[in-house]
Amino acid sequence: MVVAPPSAMTALTLAEMHVRRWELKAVCSCCGIKLRVSLPAMIRTYGPDAVWWGRKPACPGLECDGGSLTYAARALRGGSWVSMAQAPGDVAMAAYSKRQRTYPGPR
Ligand SMILES: [Zn+2]
Repeated sequence: MVVAPPSAMTALTLAEMHVRRWELKAVCSCCGIKLRVSLPAMIRTYGPDAVWWGRKPACPGLECDGGSLTYAARALRGGSWVSMAQAPGDVAMAAYSKRQRTYPGPR
């Protein structure tokens, strides 16, 4: 089975990433802190429809001077990490709304 690399075309929201069992991590470019991201915890906090592509929240590091986190995702254990720094474009948003029509309702 071929698994496509992480892309906003494949999974736009936190719930879609979780269904595909993606892993997420966050890295601060300023202090270098690395955080493992729990998708179930993210979904509890921000909701299943939250879009994390293009998000750069402030770094929580106490020693950090105004850095921001950039996220990366990977589809398989041992697969390559793909940066999520790019906000989803119109094409990805259109693909998402098409998926919602094809598979209505939560699983
Ligand atoms: Zn930092």
